[in-house]
Amino acid sequence: MDIQKAYSQLITQFPNLEIYQNHPLAPYTTVKIGGPADIFIHTKKSEDFKQILKHLAEATIFEEHKPLRPSGEGASTSKNSLRGEIPITILGNGSNVLISDAGIRGIVIKNSSNEIEILANNQVKVASGVQLPQLINFSLDHNLVDLEEFAYIPSSIGGAIFGNIHGFDRHDLNQFLDSIEVFDLTTNQLINYLTTQLNWSYDYSSLQDQRNLVVVSATLNLKPGDTKTAKQKYQDIIQKKSPNQPMKSLGCVFKNPAESVCLPIWGEKKGAGWIIDNELNLKGSFVGDAQISPLHANFIVNNGHSTASDYLNLINLVQSQLHTKHNFQFELEIKLLGQF
Ligand SMILES: Cc1cc2nc3c(=O)[nH]c(=O)nc-3n(C[C@H](O)[C@H](O)[C@H](O)COP(=O)(O)OP(=O)(O)OC[C@H]3O[C@@H](n4cnc5c(N)ncnc54)[C@H](O)[C@@H]3O)c2cc1C
Repeated sequence: MDIQKAYSQLITQFPNLEIYQNHPLAPYTTVKIGGPADIFIHTKKSEDFKQILKHLAEATIFEEHKPLRPSGEGASTSKNSLRGEIPITILGNGSNVLISDAGIRGIVIKNSSNEIEILANNQVKVASGVQLPQLINFSLDHNLVDLEEFAYIPSSIGGAIFGNIHGFDRHDLNQFLDSIEVFDLTTNQLINYLTTQLNWSYDYSSLQDQRNLVVVSATLNLKPGDTKTAKQKYQDIIQKKSPNQPMKSLGCVFKNPAESVCLPIWGEKKGAGWIIDNELNLKGSFVGDAQISPLHANFIVNNGHSTASDYLNLINLVQSQLHTKHNFQFELEIKLLGQF
C-alpha cells in the first residue's frame, strides 16, 4: 500500500479537510492511549464524512486496477479486506477502543459530524459524529424525553449504535431508533434501514461484518414529556456514576459472564467487576501506569503514561488468573484496534 501516494491524492482532492500523515491517536480516545494512524482524516460535517467515504469506496486511486475496500485491523470494518488495499477505520469518541502502541495502519477517519434536527412526530435526526450528551441536552431543550437514562456515556452516536449501548434503566439504544442511514463501503451506496426491518442483535452485526457499514446518521423516536423531571434524572445518574466510573478509561473492559457460566460456580449471576474484586482480589492492581480502578474493578484506567501493552498485560493477568481459578475467561467488551 502506497501511503504517501494515498495521502497526496487525498489532500489534493480534499484541500479543506484536516488530513494528516503519521498522526497520534491517543488524544482522540478517553483513555489517552494509542500510536499513530498512517493517514488521519478529521471530518466535522456529515457532508464531508459522506464525501470521504464515497471517495474511498470508489477509489481505484491507490492501487491500479483494484477497487479500494476497507479492512481496518479489528475495527468495525475488519472482515472484507483484500490484499494490497488500504484499511479504513472509523473512530467515534474513542471511548471503547484500545489502540495499539504501533497505531493503526491505513486510514483512520475521526467522525465529528455535528448536525441535529427536529423532525415531525417527535423524531430527532442526528449525525453519527454528535456526542451523546449533546443529543440528550438538545432533546430535553426541545421538550423531548427518554434519552436521559444514557447519561454519563462519553459516546458518539455512531459508536453508540455500533455497540447498541444500554442505559441506566437497562434499555438498549436501538429501542429508540426509527432508522439508521448507513454508508455501504462495499457497494458505495447510502442506505436507509428502518430499524423494524432489522432483527437488531443478529442482522445489524452480520450486515456490518459482510458489507462494511458505516453509520452516517440516525432518526430517533422520542416523546414529549416532563423535562424538569427528566433533567433531574439526568443529573442524578451523573452524580451516581461519576464517583466510581473514571473517565480516563474505556468503560467496562469485560462483558459480564453468562448466567450458565456463573450458576455452577456461585449459584447466581455475578458481574465481571465483582469477580475481579472478590474472587481474584485484583482491584487496584497495575502494570506500568495501567491500573484496575480502585473505584470499579471492571474499569482499567490510565494513571498517566500507560501504554497499550501495559493495558493489555493487565487484561491478560485477569484472564489467566480467572482461567486458573475457574477455568473460563471473560469476553472483551472493548475493541482492540491495530496490531497486538
Ligand atoms: C466513563 C465511561 C462510561 C461508560 N458507560 C457506558 C455505559 O453505561 N453503557 C455502555 O454501553 N457503554 C459505556 N461506555 C463505553 C463506551 O462509551 C460506549 O461503548 C460507546 O458507545 C463507544 O462509542 P464511541 O463513539 O466512543 O466509539 P469508539 O470507541 O470510537 O468506537 C467503538 C467502535 O465503534 C465503531 N464505530 C464508531 N463510529 C462508527 C460509525 N459511525 N459507524 C460504524 N462504526 C463506528 C468503531 O470503529 C469501533 O469499532 C462507557 C465508557 C466510559 C469511558
